Amino acid sequence: MHQFIDGQYREGRGEEAKRVNPATGEVAETLRYANTDDVDMAVAAAKRAFTPWSRMTPGERSDALLKLAAELDRRAADLAAVETAQTGKSIRMSTEFDIPGTIDNTSFFAGAARQLQGLAAGEYLAGQTSMIRREPIGVIGSISPWNYPFQMAGWKILPAIAAGNTIVLKPSELTPGTSLMFAEAAAAAGIPDGVINIVTGTGRAAGEHLVRHPDVVMTSFTGSTAVGRRIMEMASATAKRVHLELGGKAPFVVFDDADVEAAAHGAVAGSIINGGQDCTAATRAYVQRPLFEAFTQRVAELMAGVTVGDPALDSTDLGSLISHQHRDKVAGFVERARASGARILAGGKAPSGELAAGAFYEPTLVVDVAQDSEIVQEEVFGPVLTALPFDSDDDGLRLANDTQYGLAASAWTNDLAKSLRASEEIQAGCVWINDHIPVVSEMPHGGYKASGFGKDMSAYSLEEYTNVKHVMMSRDKTAHKEWQDTVFRAKS
Ligand code: NAD
Repeated sequence: MHQFIDGQYREGRGEEAKRVNPATGEVAETLRYANTDDVDMAVAAAKRAFTPWSRMTPGERSDALLKLAAELDRRAADLAAVETAQTGKSIRMSTEFDIPGTIDNTSFFAGAARQLQGLAAGEYLAGQTSMIRREPIGVIGSISPWNYPFQMAGWKILPAIAAGNTIVLKPSELTPGTSLMFAEAAAAAGIPDGVINIVTGTGRAAGEHLVRHPDVVMTSFTGSTAVGRRIMEMASATAKRVHLELGGKAPFVVFDDADVEAAAHGAVAGSIINGGQDCTAATRAYVQRPLFEAFTQRVAELMAGVTVGDPALDSTDLGSLISHQHRDKVAGFVERARASGARILAGGKAPSGELAAGAFYEPTLVVDVAQDSEIVQEEVFGPVLTALPFDSDDDGLRLANDTQYGLAASAWTNDLAKSLRASEEIQAGCVWINDHIPVVSEMPHGGYKASGFGKDMSAYSLEEYTNVKHVMMSRDKTAHKEWQDTVFRAKS
């Protein structure tokens, strides 16, 4: 069963669909998606659960989240196996990155729930005491993508419920497994029925209904920029708050004083991570001309040594992409670049032999491409890195910013002034210096420009999921207060 509503698994009442194992091409399971009645049922459950959950003390909610972290930890091996089976990502990624990262996030929000911030209460006007209440806002509708299904479930659910909201999450229809397991673990940890609900279905049917739902006060979305724009439009009908984590096209800027060996390792790890299906993945390397040859040669060498294979094996570095359709889309970008004169220094094809049935694609390095070409400007979302040379520091930073996106970026240099300049001038929600990819629960993740707005993780994300209320209490007991003279002077 692929819906988790009001504390229990239910069968969806929408269309039937088959989920394919991307690493083999075989049908893995048959799903029954949610229809709009299922979404209504989940929203109603979340609405009922809101008042009691929001009135629990932060300490009580924190305790529930700590129990959830322990429950997820007990189930970590099963979660990792399902995450790998549904996405095709390597078991090392699931075991060492996705699952423990989310468990750490759960513990973090258990602590953060007790630390909501606001201005100190005080007398900002004579005779009036002001205080701030930071309040949960209600039922949150969240929609998540397929690339990091479990992490995205955590990033959406945890700050929302830590702050006292309840939630209906619609994971990607391709990867509902670990989101459902998340809700099941929460129920086992004693989180009350209706606080976390999962509806599995397509964006068009379940997703749109959730966004338009009048009882949902906020839509929190992670996915592509195109769908994010549509969600903003739909949310306007009910004037919902929206939080959008959208696409990325991260630059990777290598200045001429950088350590080439470190930059090359960083570029390979940063571009092939999760099959390159990572919104912060390094996708556009800009390398100052004196280092260009050495950097691209070394990246190509390292890419050639990456083990592509069965995602379930510990020896595999790179598993399959999410689907055959997506693999063909990635291959299409590379083929069109090749046809326009690009040189492919590594990869550039799907592996043959026993991997041919799966949605695999080799780590790929593409050079001799124009800055305005589609492979440099659009999200490929595969293990594909382009590299372009630049001359002056100004050029490197200009090229880095020359994109509609602004999610993440890195600069590689040992010069303090250059690293400070890059961290100031690159327009992105995260700038790494001499590294690319690491995230941590205490620090925010979120975009600039067409990569969206609002923050996931960190105490900042709690601001997305709370309303700030000003309460002002007058100590002036006179019937006609002095300030009222400005409006009307009492005659007697
Ligand atoms: P997508 O936009 O196609 O789908 C994301 C989710 O939206 C899915 O659950 C889908 O069912 C739903 N959806 C689709 N159409 C909808 C509609 N009309 N109304 C409501 N919901 C709808 O994205 P994807 O292909 O699943 O994921 C890849 C994208 O996600 C990439 O663009 C990637 O950069 C982005 N992403 C961003 C972040 C971030 O933090 N900024 C993180 C991960 C992924």
